[in-house]
Amino acid sequence: MQIIRQLFDINTSTYTYIIASGYGREGIIIDPVSANTSSYINLLNELNLKLVMCVDTHTHADHVSSRCQLCTQTKCLSVMGEQTKAECISVYAKDGESIPFDGMKILPIYTPGHTDDSYSYLIDNNVFTGDTLFVRGTGRTDFQKGNPSALYDSITEKLFSLPESTIVYPGHDYNGNTVSSIYEEIRYNPRVANKSKVEFIDIMNSLNLKKPAMIDKVVPANLSCTCGL
Ligand code: FE
Repeated sequence: MQIIRQLFDINTSTYTYIIASGYGREGIIIDPVSANTSSYINLLNELNLKLVMCVDTHTHADHVSSRCQLCTQTKCLSVMGEQTKAECISVYAKDGESIPFDGMKILPIYTPGHTDDSYSYLIDNNVFTGDTLFVRGTGRTDFQKGNPSALYDSITEKLFSLPESTIVYPGHDYNGNTVSSIYEEIRYNPRVANKSKVEFIDIMNSLNLKKPAMIDKVVPANLSCTCGL
């Protein structure tokens, strides 16, 4: 029985995921938030999981990763894409080179655009899209080497070429959505469905979003060996 737990950080609207093949097995965590470390440890204990990997989909600008705390407390490996500038990562993921754990495997898909170190991760029929693709939305592209043209290609060429039955697990949601599917996003995502790249770039360049409040502290923390602790 596969476990996929979707956990929500209410302060930053971040989704964190715990995935395992079943109770009592090895598990991994994707995009954990530092402030919630003790609740992750509690849940891992309740599910009787040994945490073996902590994956960050990209260098976050809105929250500090729990990577350093979890790796110190559980001795798990840390995983980020090879383009990251983050220090002290155990495994630098490469596009298309799957990483095994406990009879399962996680396939990194390089999906730049939100940042230049953004990856999506495919596990069986589930894709964890970080801030590349949201439910009926996308990540922003206005800092950390974000690039709307690259994001359009990542979504329409890489993610939309997955089987339409693939379940989409986003890195954030601000509207109460939880999960989606490639089928739905191809047809109904208002930023990319039936939109040309030029139209998409225009949408992204017109968003005028506020800078994340803590970006100047959070990004250096997430790049450091200690996560700023
Ligand atoms: Fe992000």
